[in-house]
Amino acid sequence: MEPMPEDWESAVAVVAHPDDLEYGVAAAVARWTGQGKKVTYVLATKGEAGIAGMAPAEVGPLRMEEERRSAEVVGVHQVTFLDHPDGLVEYGIALRRDLATQFRRLQPEIIITASFDLTWGEEGPVNHADHRAVGLAVLDACRDAANEWVFPEAGSPWAGIRAAYVATIANPTHFVDVTATIDAGIASLREHQAYIDGLGTAFDPDEFLRNMAGYVGMGAGCEYAVAFHRYPMG
Ligand SMILES: [Zn+2]
Repeated sequence: MEPMPEDWESAVAVVAHPDDLEYGVAAAVARWTGQGKKVTYVLATKGEAGIAGMAPAEVGPLRMEEERRSAEVVGVHQVTFLDHPDGLVEYGIALRRDLATQFRRLQPEIIITASFDLTWGEEGPVNHADHRAVGLAVLDACRDAANEWVFPEAGSPWAGIRAAYVATIANPTHFVDVTATIDAGIASLREHQAYIDGLGTAFDPDEFLRNMAGYVGMGAGCEYAVAFHRYPMG
């Protein structure tokens, strides 16, 4: 693993659900915004199917609000929800078009997304279908955004995306030292209180994030780190 280059000014982080970025990546986002970089969030869904026993019509607005507050904690002031159906996100043209539209509008140099592997680790549980659909569509939309003949109705082409970084534990190529910003990352996850309460089991954001970032940090040579797999673009 190498340190992730920080010679960029603007990134868009795309995930399926409110809370996906807060399970680790937000501590890296806090580091970048602290350096004066602009980071924007795009969420494929509002997370309306994410809390057992609570109706989607009630949960959607609640989780959007939690996500906006989480974003503010780490210096992100713009959060866009694409409103694909939570739990039923499909990889396909509609999702790629929506993502390419956002990339053309926001003109990022770097894209951040979450793991779209089939499983969490080699023998772990199956990764959520929405995560698999979104991660793959994000990588494809980077190319779509640059092609003037693909989705010509979706804004002027943007060919400035240099790389996509996928947050992962498996096969990481790069790491971000988050020793100085792990607390902001933890505070960001704590904003998802309704979601955490809805899990129905004891969950400590502090312990969870420190364990994960500490494990990655051991491989990176620092106290706490977030790992990414880099996909170069262009
Ligand atoms: Zn998720």
